[in-house]
Amino acid sequence: MTLIRLTGVTKSYPPASKGGAPVVAVDDVSLTVEAGEVCGIIGYSGAGKSTVLRLMNALETPTAGSVEIDGRDVTRLRERDLRALRGDIGMIFQQFNLFDSRTVAGNIAYPLEVARRPRTEIAARVDELLRFVGLADKAKSYPEQLSGGQKQRVGIARALATSPRILLADEATSALDPDTTQEVLALLRRINRELGVTILVITHEMDVIRALADRVVVMENGRIIESGSVFDVLSSP
Ligand code: ADP
Ligand code: ADP
Repeated sequence: MTLIRLTGVTKSYPPASKGGAPVVAVDDVSLTVEAGEVCGIIGYSGAGKSTVLRLMNALETPTAGSVEIDGRDVTRLRERDLRALRGDIGMIFQQFNLFDSRTVAGNIAYPLEVARRPRTEIAARVDELLRFVGLADKAKSYPEQLSGGQKQRVGIARALATSPRILLADEATSALDPDTTQEVLALLRRINRELGVTILVITHEMDVIRALADRVVVMENGRIIESGSVFDVLSSP
């Protein structure tokens, strides 16, 4: 089953200076992600990877083309359906994007508070997530008291709070040392295998793709220049 489908998607931004050329961040991109797979998007900085992710959760609207999640065009959703979509797509970031003034538990609870879940349900879900990511003893700590790997595990727990079917990872291990990177990649594999979450990772690191992805898409200058199984793409000259 195809969960994510981009068809002929272009995203351009107005010129940075008057009379300049528009910036074409994503240029006629078509791609599909099947339910249950881990798909990687690799490319250098500026290739358009983050823009593709932001188009998927409707933080950006395409200049042309369509973005469908589970068969629904995300650009045509009403406010309510848009909120449901965001609950169905978790996101994690290179710099973790935690709320510094909230505890670990408070960070994880945040999306559930936004969704107005009952207090007792939130507490139970936060406990479950803390245990899942191995941070049960850090519930009352603040982000500044955590290591990078621990912060990313909080970011992951927060992204999973609303039980999304899709997890988008934007350079999620790029700020971490090699050992911590391995830990986080192992956690992402568990999320895919045990929870059945479809994962899209964007990275500039081949090793991340090798360790995690079933399929890879290579982007350059806003375009897809290659795609296929990780083995085929990474072993081609
Ligand atoms: P990547 O994630 O691969 O590093 P991005 O998607 O962040 O690439 O950016 C692709 C291109 O689009 C870059 O040239 C970037 O400067 C440009 N871009 C991204 N977002 C904006 C924006 N909000 N306004 C103008 N240009 C942007
Ligand atoms: P920003 O403009 O930097 O995204 P926000 O205060 O809106 O500022 O959000 C900061 C970070 O908090 C986001 O990048 C994201 O990681 C997280 N966040 C915001 N809203 C939500 C949400 N509904 N669910 C989960 N995390 C969220």
